[in-house]
Amino acid sequence: MNESKAALVIGGGVAGMQAALDVANQGFQVYLVERSPSLGGRMAMLDKTFPTLDCSACILTPKLSEVAHHKNIKMMTYSEVGSVSGKSGDFHVRIRRKARYVREDLCAGCGDCADECPVEVPNEFDQGLGFRKAIYVGFPQSTPNVYTVDRDTCIDCGRCVKVCERKAIDFDMQDEMVDVNVGAIIVATGFELFDISQYPRLGYGTYRNVIHAMEFERLINAAGPTGGHLVRLSDGKRPKSIGFIQCVGARDVQKGVPFCSRVCCMYSIKNAVMALEHDANAEVWVYYADIRAFGKGFEEFYEMAKNRFGVRFVRGRVAEIMEGRTTGNLVVKVEDTLSSKVRLVEHDLVVISPGILPPEGMDTLATKMGVNQSEDGYIAIEHTFFGPILTKTPGIFVCGCADGPKDIPDSVSAGSAAAMKATIVLSGGSA
Ligand SMILES: Cc1cc2nc3c(=O)[nH]c(=O)nc-3n(C[C@H](O)[C@H](O)[C@H](O)COP(=O)(O)OP(=O)(O)OC[C@H]3O[C@@H](n4cnc5c(N)ncnc54)[C@H](O)[C@@H]3O)c2cc1C
Repeated sequence: MNESKAALVIGGGVAGMQAALDVANQGFQVYLVERSPSLGGRMAMLDKTFPTLDCSACILTPKLSEVAHHKNIKMMTYSEVGSVSGKSGDFHVRIRRKARYVREDLCAGCGDCADECPVEVPNEFDQGLGFRKAIYVGFPQSTPNVYTVDRDTCIDCGRCVKVCERKAIDFDMQDEMVDVNVGAIIVATGFELFDISQYPRLGYGTYRNVIHAMEFERLINAAGPTGGHLVRLSDGKRPKSIGFIQCVGARDVQKGVPFCSRVCCMYSIKNAVMALEHDANAEVWVYYADIRAFGKGFEEFYEMAKNRFGVRFVRGRVAEIMEGRTTGNLVVKVEDTLSSKVRLVEHDLVVISPGILPPEGMDTLATKMGVNQSEDGYIAIEHTFFGPILTKTPGIFVCGCADGPKDIPDSVSAGSAAAMKATIVLSGGSA
């Protein structure tokens, strides 16, 4: 294979997968490097997706499978970029493949090992609300369907080794360095959530019934920690009144996040509707600074939430959340800026929408690749109008949330656009 005709995609979320597929479908080799044990990114964690309310796993799973079975895509999960040198058309990349302690070529994903494992730890995929074993796959559609040993929590009891008929578990495994030559690189490293405990007045981390939006996604998901039953964490009761709070860790200069996270308005409206789908008699409130429903079908979705589902929208920034001493109920204090009244509203459950930040390790990765970052820490794009997926470094392209918050349709479009630019380079052209 001519490796200068290959591309490297960093990040296996929906944007990176789309980019990898579009490059691979044009006949080029792709190395798809994902640092977690599975592809899928954040979309794999979502319950439904705005604005259509499609089941996220249902629309993502065929894509996961297409990537996994594509003859031109070499999936490198549980792997990270070690170093990058060279230039457009001829990059040399060293990739560190972390030891899974389970051989990918032997593991059939049967799960006998996890059944036998005596260690239970919080499952990151479920935002720590459910549990996994020390040998685990994060979620049922994990791609590849290969187990990974978490050496930090494994107690070396050896029970998994004994029960594995295929002899796939190997505690002598070491990290491996793999060198590849590629003509183009696509960065699709996505985002992470703002740490909302930085707002102690909102009680996250102190009050059990204050959760964040991704926790809510897992709570209402049939494959999630409660089997899809929407309950409070403090007492397992079904919440009758739920408040969604917007713009926490977004549009806040004092916290160093002046920008809008773009997706929170819509995912909160979606989750407000989902809460009512779970219990049509619940009362659902959304506290917002202003509603940004700018995409196709978004405004209509917002109108539907208000008019058909009866979601109540209050304009104002929440000042404080207080917890009732015995009930675990929460009182939201907010100035309603449309009526100029201070309101105190009691809820059983409060869901905070955290802002979206560049993922951990962005600075290091950008330095390794020699690409610039914008002031907010994302990958800097070359030109707002004519280079939205170009970086300042020729041959390196960016898509999805790696250069700033985006919804799924925009992440996928950017993935396809980055793939097109990359294949121009691979074909000997200048992108
Ligand atoms: C609570 C919530 C609900 C949402 N609901 C919706 C919705 O209903 N509809 C909608 O359109 N959008 C929704 N979104 C937005 C949606 O999640 C994003 O648009 C989408 O996930 C972006 O995909 P991505 O591939 O850019 O990033 P991600 O999904 O973040 O994927 C990036 C991948 O890159 C990997 N990675 C990171 N750094 C590295 C590295 N250094 N090396 C290798 N791999 C790396 C990560 O592990 C991850 O797998 C929601 C977001 C949130 C927070």
